[in-house]
Amino acid sequence: MKALRKIAAQAGVALEEVPEPSAPQGTDVIVEVEAAGICGSDLHVDDWTPGYEFMVPLLPLTLGHEFAGRIVAVGPDVEHVKVGDRVTVMPSAPCNACPACRAGDSEKCQNKQTLGLRRDGGFAPRVTARASGCLPLPDAVDYELAALTEPLGVGATAVRVGGVGQGDRVVVLGPGTIGQALAIFARLSGATDVAVVGFDDAPRLETCRALGFDQVYDLKEPGAMDRLKSDFGGCDVVFEATGKAVSITDGLALLRMEGVFVMAGIHEEDARFPATDFVRRRLQIRASHGARGPEWRRVLAAMAKEPEIFRKMITHRLPLDEAVRGFGLAHERGASKVMILPGQG
Ligand SMILES: [Zn+2]
Ligand SMILES: [Zn+2]
Repeated sequence: MKALRKIAAQAGVALEEVPEPSAPQGTDVIVEVEAAGICGSDLHVDDWTPGYEFMVPLLPLTLGHEFAGRIVAVGPDVEHVKVGDRVTVMPSAPCNACPACRAGDSEKCQNKQTLGLRRDGGFAPRVTARASGCLPLPDAVDYELAALTEPLGVGATAVRVGGVGQGDRVVVLGPGTIGQALAIFARLSGATDVAVVGFDDAPRLETCRALGFDQVYDLKEPGAMDRLKSDFGGCDVVFEATGKAVSITDGLALLRMEGVFVMAGIHEEDARFPATDFVRRRLQIRASHGARGPEWRRVLAAMAKEPEIFRKMITHRLPLDEAVRGFGLAHERGASKVMILPGQG
């Protein structure tokens, strides 16, 4: 079968012939992948930006950690899922060897064996996964929506970390998939005013409008920052999903006294911020990364309620044969989520 892989420790990804997964052992299953989303971190791996050196000894490796499909084989010890089940797959598995794992706190595992980053992932017709990572899909959630569960879970988790509540005024910096997820879950958590902010980002901000967010700001436009300050100055929570250091100074400046700033971006550079102002206004900076099982379930329930809202996050759909082109599209800021559909073409 063909799979989209990172071949070597340099820029680029390629479609390569790989062996079929072997018969599943123990509590493993084989999932026939129907939809797999291209994530911002996949683009970092493609560009080979710093932060992914841990992959070097694992290459070549099939990418893809946001995927859903149908179980086609189960190992002898699998109990809670069966052949034919429609599932989305939590890609991270604890290593069972690090100090956190040995202390029984595998959520804090420092060496998670994530599919698509440390083990072969979902940009392939079939992938081996652990049964305990497979969550059955509600009837109303189809495969392409199910493949959004991971990034939506990342957003839902950050909204929980930020403590967004009823009536809050919230600013989301970064209009990509994570930013869209943050905005949606902030609204579901009771925020009454939600701004989404980009820079030279007209198409993705248009996607945000389609998701029902009218207060969008493109900071490349003259006067946009002043409008944002006058509309959202003194807001309760700011989320950063840009990976840009300037977002930290911009975001902290918008907060009210004791406001909360949540960082969710992956940064190439170290950050600086005005520390004395930060202390005097008793601001809070929090970090959020990844998503756990309860958030995955919350996301699936939210999608089952209003599936068509979430579908607007997907702007492109391509067969696996065109996955390299899909990466090109995802690199352009015109795209929001690019979905690879290995079952087609
Ligand atoms: Zn992702
Ligand atoms: Zn561990």
